[in-house]
Amino acid sequence: MVVEAKACRIKDLGLHVGGNVEVKGWVHLVRQHGKNLLFITLRDGTGFTQVVARQGISGYDNLIEVHREAAIRVIGEVVRDERSPYGYEVRARHVEVISPSSPTIEEEYQPNSSPDVLLNKRHLVIRGEKTSSILKYVAKVLKYFREFCEERGLVEVVPPLITRAACEGGATLFSIKYFDEIAYLTQSSQLYLEAALPALGNVYCIQKSFRAEKSRTRRHLTEYTHAEVELAFINFDELIDFTEDLVIHLVQRTLEEDEWILKKLEVDDLNVPKKPFKRLTYREAVQKLKDEGVLIKEGDEIDESMERRLVDQLGEPLFLTEFPASQKAFYFKRKNGDITLSMDLLVPHVGEIIGGGMREDDHEILLLRLKEINANIEDYRWYLDLRKYGSVPHGGFGLGVERTVEWILKLPHIREACLFPRLINRITP
Ligand code: ATP
Ligand code: MN
Repeated sequence: MVVEAKACRIKDLGLHVGGNVEVKGWVHLVRQHGKNLLFITLRDGTGFTQVVARQGISGYDNLIEVHREAAIRVIGEVVRDERSPYGYEVRARHVEVISPSSPTIEEEYQPNSSPDVLLNKRHLVIRGEKTSSILKYVAKVLKYFREFCEERGLVEVVPPLITRAACEGGATLFSIKYFDEIAYLTQSSQLYLEAALPALGNVYCIQKSFRAEKSRTRRHLTEYTHAEVELAFINFDELIDFTEDLVIHLVQRTLEEDEWILKKLEVDDLNVPKKPFKRLTYREAVQKLKDEGVLIKEGDEIDESMERRLVDQLGEPLFLTEFPASQKAFYFKRKNGDITLSMDLLVPHVGEIIGGGMREDDHEILLLRLKEINANIEDYRWYLDLRKYGSVPHGGFGLGVERTVEWILKLPHIREACLFPRLINRITP
C-alpha cells in the first residue's frame, strides 16, 4: 500500500498528472454518494481541488466521520478532469485525518447571516472561497505597489507608528498612554518620509495608519493600510504623472496576473486607465456640482456622495486639485493665496483612493502654519529642521490599499478587503 508520496501543493497538481502525490489541507466541503463514495473539496491555501475517495481505500472509515474544516492528508493519483471546477482531481488511495473538526461548524454562520455575525465569525469566514480570494488580491496589490516603487528606484522605509506629531489634524487622532506621557497612533507616515528624503533619496512605505473615524461609511476604517510615496526635486505636474503611472501599473498587473480573482468576483469591465487622467480643480468641481443642482457652495467639503457623483458618471479616474487651504493639512504648499498644490484621485464606486500634494518647503512659512493651528512647536522642531538644512521642492501621496481593492474588485464595503477590519464599533476578533 502507498502511504508515502511526493508532497504537492494544490496549485501545482497540474505538474503531476498521472503521478501519485501527497496533499495536505482542510476539508472545504464533503459530499457522500451512497455509502461507498465521498467527494471532498480540499483547500490548502494555494487552491482547491476535488478528492474522490472510495470505500476500501486505507483510512476510508475515518474519513466518513469528518466534518467541514477537518485537516486531512491524502495520497492519491492526480487526474485531469474537465468537469471539475478545479481542472484536476485526486483519486485517493490513502487518507488520514490529521485533526478533526466539530459538527458545530455548521451552526457558526450562514452565507446570508447578518454583517455583524459574519464579522464576529471573521476568523472562519476568511476561509471561504471568495473571501480568501480577496485577501490574496490584497497581497497582490502590495506586491504591485512595491514592484512599481522599486522599478522607480525608491527605497522602502519603516517609520514609527507611535508619534507625537498629528499630521491630519486633531479630530481623528487616537491617543495612547505612553508610560507617563500621551502619544498618538500615526495618521500618516508622511512627515517621516519627508525626513528620510535627504538621507535615502525618494522613499516609500507600506504601513498602518490610524484614524478615529466617527462616521460609518463604506470606505472608512479606523486602522488601514497606507501605501505612501515621497519624492524630492519634483513639481506638481511630475507628482501627478507619477501617480498616474502607479495606478496604471496596479491595473495592468492585475489584468496580467489575477484573471481568476476578477472572474471569481465577477468583475468583467476593468480597463487600464489612459493618461492623462481627467482633472478638475476644486473650484471647477464645485461649479459643476452647482450646475447639476447639488447644494454646495465655494469653501464646502466635497463629500463622498459628491465625489461619487463626479466620478461615477465619468467612469474613469479623476483628479481633483487645488483644494482650499482650510480643507488640507498645515504642510501643503500653496499655489497662491489659500489655494494648495493638492490632489485627490477619485475612482468610480469608491471616490478618493489617493490624497497628496506638494509640501511647504520654506521654514518661516511652515512655522507660521504650525502657529496657525496652535501646534506645540517643540513637537515639530525636527520637522522644521528639514526646512533649515537643505530644503528642496518635494511632494508625495498616500494610497489607501483597502480602498484600492474595494475599487478594483467592486466590493460592497471596505471591510471586505481587510483580514480583520477595525471599525468604529469593532475591535474583535
Ligand atoms: P476621506 O476624505 O475619504 O476621509 P482623507 O482625505 O482623510 O480621506 P488622506 O488623509 O488624504 O485621506 O489619506 C490618504 C488616503 O488614505 C486616502 O486617499 C484613502 O485612500 C486612505 N484613507 C484615508 N482615511 C482612510 C480610512 N479611514 N480608511 C481607509 N482608508 C483611508
Ligand atoms: Mn478622512
